[in-house]
Amino acid sequence: MSNTSELFGSMVFSNAVMRERLPKDTYQTLQKTIKHGKHLDINIANVVANAMKDWAIEKGATHFTHWFQPMTGVTAEKHESFISPNEDGRVIMEFSGKELVKGESDASSFPSGGLRATFEARGYTAWDATSYAFIKDKTLCIPTAFCSYGGDALDEKTPLLRSMEDFNREALRILKLFGSDATSVKTTVGPEQEYFLIDKSVYEKRPDLIYTGRTLFGRKPPKGQELEDHYYGTIKPRVKAFMEELDEECWKLGISAKTEHNEVAPAQHELAPIFTTTNIAADHNQLTMELLKKVASKHGMFCILHEKPFEGVNGSGKHNNWSAATNTGVNLLEPGDTPSENAQFLLFLCAVIKAVDDYPELLRISVATAANDHRLGASEAPPAIMSMFVGEELGEILESIKNGNEYAVHEKKQMKIGVHTLPRIPKDNTDRNRTSPFAFTGNKFEFRALGSSASISEVNTVLNTIVAEELRQFADILENADNFEKELHNLIRKTIKEHDRVIFNGNGYDESWEKEAKERGLLNLKTTPDAYSKYLDKKNVELFSSHNVFTLAEMKARYEIALENYIKTINIEAETMIEMVRKQILPAVSAFEEDLASSISIKKEVSEKASCRFEEETLETESKTADKAYAAVKNLEKTLKGAKGESIELAMYYKDKVIPAMRKLRNEVDTLETITDAEHWPLPTYGEMLFSVKY
Ligand code: ADP
Ligand code: MG
Repeated sequence: MSNTSELFGSMVFSNAVMRERLPKDTYQTLQKTIKHGKHLDINIANVVANAMKDWAIEKGATHFTHWFQPMTGVTAEKHESFISPNEDGRVIMEFSGKELVKGESDASSFPSGGLRATFEARGYTAWDATSYAFIKDKTLCIPTAFCSYGGDALDEKTPLLRSMEDFNREALRILKLFGSDATSVKTTVGPEQEYFLIDKSVYEKRPDLIYTGRTLFGRKPPKGQELEDHYYGTIKPRVKAFMEELDEECWKLGISAKTEHNEVAPAQHELAPIFTTTNIAADHNQLTMELLKKVASKHGMFCILHEKPFEGVNGSGKHNNWSAATNTGVNLLEPGDTPSENAQFLLFLCAVIKAVDDYPELLRISVATAANDHRLGASEAPPAIMSMFVGEELGEILESIKNGNEYAVHEKKQMKIGVHTLPRIPKDNTDRNRTSPFAFTGNKFEFRALGSSASISEVNTVLNTIVAEELRQFADILENADNFEKELHNLIRKTIKEHDRVIFNGNGYDESWEKEAKERGLLNLKTTPDAYSKYLDKKNVELFSSHNVFTLAEMKARYEIALENYIKTINIEAETMIEMVRKQILPAVSAFEEDLASSISIKKEVSEKASCRFEEETLETESKTADKAYAAVKNLEKTLKGAKGESIELAMYYKDKVIPAMRKLRNEVDTLETITDAEHWPLPTYGEMLFSVKY
C-alpha cells in the first residue's frame, strides 16, 4: 500500500469504518452514546464488538487488549486472543460486547499510591469510546480508562477526560454570553516531540543508557552543537529512511505526523503531528513514542526519549501546543475580525493569563520529574519560573487596555473592548521567543516545559482545569452583570492589572530574569521535591475537587507516586554509577596505569637516559584521580545507605545528599576519561555516541 491517503488510518476502527460496518441504528446509537458520554447498552456493545472483531481479523489481528495509561507514564496492555473453544474440540474467534466495554485487570503491580488496598487488588478498564480502537502488532487495542473498584482514577486518562468535560462546561457558559450557538468546546493539542538517535552498537556498550536512559558519565566532545550546523540541516539518508517508515507507521494509526527535522544538538530530531482533540492527541503521542523506539530499532538505531541524555548538550522537550475549539469551528484563542469576536478572544486570553499567575506551581508540578529537573533551568530549556510570553503587539494592546491609553498603531483610538476591532496580530511575530516556558503563538499557547518522555495527559489536565476555574469565575461575574459590555471591559482590565506580572517578553535564559522574577513575586521551584511540596496546598485541593478532576485521595496518591518515582529514578542512577565505576571504570584505569608503569620500567631498562615524562606524569595524575574517584564511589555508597524516611523527606534527602554525591563522582570520572587512553576507556565517548549515525 503506497498511497498515503489509503494508508492513513488503515489500522483504525474509525468513524468511517463504523458507518460502513455497523447496522445503521447501531451506528446512530453508538454516536449518541459517544457524544453524550452515556453508558453503552450491552446489546449495542455486542454488535459493535462483533463488527470490530471481524474487521480486526481481516486485518490480521489474532488478539485484543484493553490499552491504558497507568500512572507509570507508559502504556499498558494485556493481550488476550480471540479464540474460544467450541464443542467439537476446535476454536472459534469471539469477542463480546462485555469484553469490549469493560475489562478486569490485576492492578496490583501498577502504582496506586495507596488507593487500592491489597484485598482489592483488581482494577477495571472501561472503553473510552471517544478514542478509536486500532490495530498494533496484530492486536486490536481498545483505548480505555483505568479505575479502581471504588471508582478512583488509577491512570492518566480518566482525569484528563474529566478536565475536558469541565472545560467544556465553563467555556460554554462564557460563549453563551457572547451569543454563540456552539454546543461543545474541546481543547486541542499538537505536541512536538524531540528525540535523539544513536547507533545501536554504541548504545549497547553504555549500561547507563540501558538502565537509566541517560549518560551518567561523559566528557563534552571536541565538537558539540556550537556550530549550530545540525539545526534544520540535511537529514542523513539513514535517518531519512527511518523517518519515512515512522511516518507510514504513524499514518496507519491515524496519527498525522507532519513535520520532521533535525534539532539543535547533534543526533537530535523532532516530529510534530497536526493537532487534534486533547485525549486523542494524548493517545497518539503515547503511540508515537512507542513507534519511535520500534522503528529506530529496525533501522539499527536506538531512540533516546530521555529529557537530558547528554550533559552539556541540549536536552529534549515536548512542546505542548494548546488551544480550544468549538464544534462550530471557532478557535477560542484566535483573534477575530469583529469587535465582539475580539472581546471574546481577550476574555479567553485573560483567563489563561490569570490561570498561569494563580496556579504556577501546578504547571511546574505537571512537568516535574527527576529527568526533567536537569533540563528546566539549564540555559537551553525554559526556566523553572512559569512566566508567559505574549509578543510585542499583543503586549502593547494589553498594556493600553490596562492604562486606558490610546493604542498607537491602531488609528489612535482608545481601545474599548467590544467596540473596536483589534489590529491583526501577525502570527509570525509571536513565536520568536524560544526562552519562555509558555508562549502565545498567534492562535494557541505553546507550553515548552514538558519533558520529552512524559505523557501529555497530566499537563493538559492541569491546563484545562486551571483555565476552566478562571472561566467559571468570569462567568459568575458576567452572568450577573446589568451592563454586560461595561462589566466585560472592567473584568478584562482588572485581570490584566492584577496578573500581568506573569507576562515576560525578555530573555528567560538570562540570569537577571531570576532576580526580576523574584521581585515580581513569581515562584521558582527548581526541583521536583520543591514543586511537589506545594501540591497538596489547600487552594490546589479545592481547585481539583471543586472541578471533580481529582478527589483529595487521588491527589494524595499522585503525590506519593511522583515522589516515589523521583526517589527510585535517582536510586537506580546512583546504583548504576557505582556498578560502572567499580566494575568497568576503575579496573580499566588500573590496567592503563599498569601499562604506563611497565612502559616506564621497560624504557628505563633499555636506557637510563630515555625520557618518561609523559608516562610518569600521566601515571601520577591518573592514580591520584583514581584515588579521588574511589573515595567518591565509597562516599556515594555511604550516602545511599544513610537514606531514611519516606515520601517528601526521603525525596529531599535524595535531592540534597545523593545528587551532590553523584555529581562529585561524575566529576572525577570525567577527569579520568580525559587522561585515559582510548584503548582502555571502557565506554563509548560522547563524540562516538553523538556522531554514531554517520551517513
Ligand atoms: P514550531 O516549531 O514553530 O513551534 P510546528 O509547526 O513545529 O511549529 O508545531 C506547531 C504545532 O502546533 C503543530 O503540532 C500544530 O498542529 C499545532 N497547532 C496548530 N494550531 C493549533 C491549535 N489551534 N491547537 C493546538 N495545537 C495547534
Ligand atoms: Mg514549537
